[in-house]
Amino acid sequence: MGIFSLFSADLAVDLGTANTVIYMKGKGIVLNEPSIVAFDRNTKRIVALGNEAREMLGRTHKDIATIRPMKDGVIADFEIAEGMLRELIKRIHANWMPSRRIVISVPSGITEVEKRAVRDSAEHAGAKEVHLIAEPMAAAIGIGLDVHAPVGNMVVDMGGGTTEIAVIALSGIVTENSIRIAGDEMDEAIIQHFKKNHNILIGERTAEAIKIEVGSAMPLREEVRIQVKGRDLVNGIPKTIEATSEEIREALNEPITTVIDIVRLTLEQTPPELAADILDRGIMLTGGGALLKGLDERLRLETTLPVHVAEQPIFAVVCGTGTVLENLAKYSNVLLKGRRY
Ligand code: ADP
Ligand code: MG
Repeated sequence: MGIFSLFSADLAVDLGTANTVIYMKGKGIVLNEPSIVAFDRNTKRIVALGNEAREMLGRTHKDIATIRPMKDGVIADFEIAEGMLRELIKRIHANWMPSRRIVISVPSGITEVEKRAVRDSAEHAGAKEVHLIAEPMAAAIGIGLDVHAPVGNMVVDMGGGTTEIAVIALSGIVTENSIRIAGDEMDEAIIQHFKKNHNILIGERTAEAIKIEVGSAMPLREEVRIQVKGRDLVNGIPKTIEATSEEIREALNEPITTVIDIVRLTLEQTPPELAADILDRGIMLTGGGALLKGLDERLRLETTLPVHVAEQPIFAVVCGTGTVLENLAKYSNVLLKGRRY
């Protein structure tokens, strides 16, 4: 950490569907904000970003729209995503030198066109050298696994828009599946539950808060009751109802079962030697979804494998991306192929 680190602004970016986390070389994590943008529909100008835009979710008027440009794990709105990245970088470093290097993690199932879009965004934001790394690879490095070893490791990264499941060995991804079922789908399942069973409409943020507070994948030691505010679907009037943690678990069962099915499928697609490694070492859970109560236990029960939750699941991907940035030579073989520099 010499004086140079003060001027060095090489960045590692986890451009997540729910949260964007930025790591600065020599410094560590310098920004963690929701990947949400509020913009003026007429001019397309960004009016708020991150936490500030999150406060506006579901509360905007007709001229302002809030969107999550990365919604399903890829760039849904190119222009807005680029604007978001540029503004976030500006926020951490007002005069980020355009000669800088940036490593960005992207979903493993990304297409060439989508890769191009991410690269272009970073370049337009001022980067001269852009490297891409698959999210599960970054997550594996972030939790300290030796990805170069001839040993199989399974990582399940459950974010907002996507769950990425991958088996990694010898610096590469051997088997992978990416599905668009993760945190957002759980929130949606909770919204649907209240619509169907309580005749009330609740917002996305309320649904997420319920999931985080009382959502679970296995029975809780102490089941709880909660008060939920929404709008009565029959008379349109706001009201409060009572719900239980049991019914929330029931509502979450479908998305959770789907994720577990894909974990099983991925295990079936894994070569036997690597499957044997996973039997010994277990499954690593990362991403915000890893924090869902009882998810590890449920996965353990249904796969009979050991399951470990990363220490800071939300930061696994950015930490790994940061490690790659700090040791580019050591990790050059895990980067996604693309343009050479
Ligand atoms: P992404 O990489 O897609 O940006 P993250 O890894 O940041 O996503 O995880 C965000 C998701 O994790 C959101 O759907 C959020 O609701 C969920 N999440 C965060 N904390 C918890 C928690 N304690 N329990 C359940 N889900 C959680
Ligand atoms: Mg992520």
